[in-house]
This record gives sequence, structure tokens and C-alpha cells, in this order.
Amino acid sequence: MGAVTLKDVSKIYNKIPVVDRLSFEIKSGEMFGLLGPNGAGKSTTIRSIITLTQPTEGEIEVAGYNVRRQSDLVRRSIGVVLQQTSVDADLTVWENLEFHGRMHHIPKADRQQRIDRWLEYVDLSDRRKSLVKTLSGGMKRRLQIARALLHEPKILFLDEPTVGLDPQNRRRLWEMIRDLNRQGMTVLLTSHYMEEVEFLCDRIGIMDSGKLIELGTLAEFKSKYGEGLAIKQIGDRLESQFFPTLEAANTYLESLSNKIGITIRESNLEDIFVKLTGHQLD
Ligand code: ADP
Repeated sequence: MGAVTLKDVSKIYNKIPVVDRLSFEIKSGEMFGLLGPNGAGKSTTIRSIITLTQPTEGEIEVAGYNVRRQSDLVRRSIGVVLQQTSVDADLTVWENLEFHGRMHHIPKADRQQRIDRWLEYVDLSDRRKSLVKTLSGGMKRRLQIARALLHEPKILFLDEPTVGLDPQNRRRLWEMIRDLNRQGMTVLLTSHYMEEVEFLCDRIGIMDSGKLIELGTLAEFKSKYGEGLAIKQIGDRLESQFFPTLEAANTYLESLSNKIGITIRESNLEDIFVKLTGHQLD
């Protein structure tokens, strides 16, 4: 059974489908990345999955529960780290977790144990008494993750989990997310960082204009679109041409009489994303 299943899901705002008959499945234990340019419909899709908005049409199941008819059961099965649901800056680290634990009716003894365990996991045990407003950006994000895990969800939703973090903190969070996934957690994340999706995700869904325009592993994308790339500078513009292999790209270069301004390299997710959407992400 899939951890998350969408069947013909649409969300219509002002007669415009911002999510347009979307169907896909996230498997249990999978790390799934949703990529797309701004306005593609990623947030609306995630908000529909986590019961924050109702789809106009279609059906969504999360952990075997229907988001329309069993929204409480869905909420109990998921942990959510969104940009908007940030932690309360005027409470301490511990108070934030305590509050969340009470909201989820976790009995006291169990609650204290779980708070200790997850604080240790995200390396914030020594900051338990600190006000959240005194924490760094990386610490706040780790606290959000601890909070999302406190009620032991089956599926974790991470919306742009490392945005605004320095490379070191980003790396640290990646390792944490990967470790959680290795322990069996299903993860759905959105990101603007191609390296993040390349590093973390088993499968990638690329959205544009409310539709899923590609779905698969990076290896599948590369074998479909090409593993080799020739980049040519034309005025102030770069033009890319895909080749099945790096070798084929090099053979192409060798065949040219004028090789000036042409670079050959392996293709990556960003190249494929730009080819598909015509957009640079940042
Ligand atoms: P993404 O997360 O990929 O950037 P969104 O899901 O946020 O995309 O937005 C998709 C489209 O839906 C955008 O054009 C946005 O303006 C529109 N949209 C999102 N929420 C609303 C809303 N509450 N009312 C009207 N339009 C909305």
C-alpha cells in the first residue's frame, strides 16, 4: 500500500486549476522530492495532503486514511515542518515540545521521555531551557523537526527544510533526514536546492502549472534525457544540448572545427529541470 496516494486531484482558485488532475503515489519508506518553479502548485498539493485545504476534486489517501473523511487520523499519522508553522519564539525549547505533546494527548510520562529522546536526537538537549528566540536558524529548524516527530508520525512532510541555512547546517540536516528515512520514515519534501533533492530523494516529481510533468529517479531522468551535456555560450545566453553519454558529448565536441566557448560535462538534475520547465529555480 502507498503511504500517500493522489487520484485525479485538482484545486481550483478563481476558476483556475492551480493543481490540475494530479495523480501519483509515494511508497512506504520512500524519500520523495517535489520540485517545481514558483507557482507550480507544490504548496497547494502539500496543503491538500496534510488536510490544510480541501481539494476541489479527486481523492487523497494518507497512511490508508482519506483526507476528507478521516482528517483526524491523517493528522495523527503525519509530522509537518512548514515555513509557516514555525516554533513559538517566546517559549523555551522544552515548552514548545511540551505544548505540542499535550495537543496530541501524549500521556505525561511518555511525553517527557519522548521530549528527552528527540531533543537528544536533534542535538538540542543542552538548550532545553533556552527561549526559542535565542536559537540560531539551524537550531530552530532542528527543533521544528523534533516537534514534528514527537507524536511518532509515519510520514514526514518537509517544505523547503534547509532554506536560509548555511552549508554546514544544511549538511547536518540532510544527514538527519537521511537517518530518519533509513529508520523507516516516509518523507515528502519540497526544495529549491537541486543538490538537496539529488542527495536525499529516491524519486523526484517535477511539477509545472499544476501538473506533474515528470516522475522518476535521477538515474531514470538521466537515461531518458541524456547523461552528457554540451554547453555553448551564445552572446550572454547559454545553450545546452543533451547527449546519451558523456562520451557522445565529447565525440560531438571533437567533430567541431570551432570548439571555442563549448563546455562538456555530465548532466545533473538542474539541467533536466531547466530543459523540462524552461525555468531556472532561483
Ligand atoms: P508553489 O508552492 O509551487 O510555488 P503554490 O501552490 O503556492 O505554488 O501556488 C500555485 C498557484 O496557486 C499560484 O499561482 C498561487 O498564486 C495560487 N494560489 C495559491 N493559494 C491560493 C489561494 N488561497 N487563493 C488563490 N490563489 C492561490
